[in-house]
Amino acid sequence: MIEIQNIYKSFGDNEVLKGIDAIFEPGKVNLIIGGSGSGKSTLLKCIVGLHDPDQGKVFFGQQEFTGMDFEERIPIRRNLGMLFQNSALFDSMTVEQNIIFTLNMFTDMSQAEKIERANFCLDRVNLKNVNKLYPSELSGGMKKRVGIARAISMSPKYLFCDEPNSGLDPATSILIDELIQELTEEYQCTTLVVTHDMNSVMGIGDYILFLYKGQKFWEGSNEEMLRSDVQELNDFVFASPL
Ligand code: ATP
Ligand code: MG
Repeated sequence: MIEIQNIYKSFGDNEVLKGIDAIFEPGKVNLIIGGSGSGKSTLLKCIVGLHDPDQGKVFFGQQEFTGMDFEERIPIRRNLGMLFQNSALFDSMTVEQNIIFTLNMFTDMSQAEKIERANFCLDRVNLKNVNKLYPSELSGGMKKRVGIARAISMSPKYLFCDEPNSGLDPATSILIDELIQELTEEYQCTTLVVTHDMNSVMGIGDYILFLYKGQKFWEGSNEEMLRSDVQELNDFVFASPL
């Protein structure tokens, strides 16, 4: 479980997050949705510790993550897998080396074990014969899969995906959504997916947090969302000027 309490974050005069509360349950896909610039990526970065919130608290289970120093955060970071908005693979490393990089940071596995683990994860995301390729040799969908393979390499308790569908065609998007759903069930991890793809809401969202101009605009279950006037909500969030 992840709990966030009253999260505020500004960049200079730009107040991006204005007091966000939410509880994200394990074994569920929790969606953070909202228009461009509404603060989704900033919120995710505040949760994983890439930004420090100006105010508010983040809890991983019972442990308060905010306020911990770098060393104290390591055991939590070890349980945390992240797919970045642009996949963020290292271009100078092969696919396999990209995954091994994470294993190097957090494990003392032998080289043979790391190679085996990397290939197990690639296999798990249905990628075959790509381990020696470089990111520039992959399609957008394949890069996302490599990013996911890297994110699950440490069997995460917490899985974060920032715009996993961006730049993908609808069919590939659905496959990526299904993969995230399957992995969430498999690892029983607390999964947070940032998206502005309404199809994901219908497809995989167990809990949905709508952001609008840095505030919580709506939250609820997928069923509640389906009962509400989704189109109206969608039009409001995505068509309103920011
Ligand atoms: P998108 O859907 O386009 O990815 P988003 O909801 O993820 O949008 P954020 O990336 O969180 O939005 O950005 C929210 C606001 O915060 C924007 O006004 C952006 O310019 C600002 N911002 C984000 N990161 C930084 C930063 N590192 N420094 C300064 N301003 C930032
Ligand atoms: Mg973003």
